[in-house]
This record gives sequence, structure tokens and C-alpha cells, in this order.
Amino acid sequence: MKKDDCIFCKIANGEIPSNTVYEDEKYRAILDLSPASKGHTLILPKDHYDDLAAADGETLASVLKVAQKICAGMKKSLNCDGINVVQNNGAAAGQTVKHLHVHLIPRYEGDGPMVTWKQNESDPEEQKKIAAGISAAL
Ligand code: 5GP
Ligand code: ZN
Repeated sequence: MKKDDCIFCKIANGEIPSNTVYEDEKYRAILDLSPASKGHTLILPKDHYDDLAAADGETLASVLKVAQKICAGMKKSLNCDGINVVQNNGAAAGQTVKHLHVHLIPRYEGDGPMVTWKQNESDPEEQKKIAAGISAAL
């Protein structure tokens, strides 16, 4: 299903042109308009899902296969030293376009911090409770 007012639906389905690096029946992968690094790519499903929670299992499995294929191509063509695979869900997590997408961010030695966070100390008792809480909610 497509969503009428969704820019990624339009790009994924070819209604808006893009620098496409890969396309199949279900996906289009494009270069990001504001790349974090050379080759920064977005994998877009052609069907609309708001985010990870909205997608079906088959889509979630196949999107990672597409990611694996493109990562291999990136390593060959860009000669990058690593690749971050990032997927943001919700505004608080940095999601700005509400259409499921996976970022592939090629990394080059010495390109500095990019996908990073502050490492906090953890309390063992609190961690036990948190783990039990998440587990019980599954
Ligand atoms: P998010 O922050 O939602 O995880 O990622 C959205 C990404 O889409 C951003 O990295 C942004 O640069 C990219 N983006 C937003 N609009 C367009 C567009 O029209 N074309 C392309 N190629 N990328 C876009
Ligand atoms: Zn969409």
C-alpha cells in the first residue's frame, strides 16, 4: 500500500527521480540527499510502513538481505572501511520521514564520531528489573 502524501512512497515508486543504487520488486535504494558520508544510502520499501513496528516479518527479513547486498557493493566501489546500518523509529530517535527506511552509512578511517552515544554506568539490580520488564511485555 502507498500513502498519498508520503515523499518516500513517491521516490520508492519512481514518481520522483532519485539517484538509485538498487531496485527490485519490493525495494528501491537511493543516495541520501544530505549524506553523512560519501555513499550514504537509504533502503526504501515500495509499500508504505510508518516504521519498524508497522512492517511485516517478511519485509523485515528481506530488507536486511538487501542491506547485505548493497553493503558488499559499497565495499567494492567506495573502498570504505566500515558501514553503519541505522534505522530510526519515532521523532525522539531522530526519525524525520515517517516511511520505514534503513540507512547504510559507509565509514572511512578517521572520519570521526557519527553514530554514537554516551556510555552510562548501570546498576545490576535495576538492570535485572528492566530486563524482566521488557521480557514480560513481549
Ligand atoms: P531519518 O532521519 O528519518 O532516519 O532519515 C531521513 C533521511 O532522509 C535523512 O538522512 C534525509 O537526509 C533524507 N531525505 C529526506 N528527504 C529526502 C529526499 O527527498 N531525497 C533523498 N534522497 N533523501 C531525503
Ligand atoms: Zn510512504
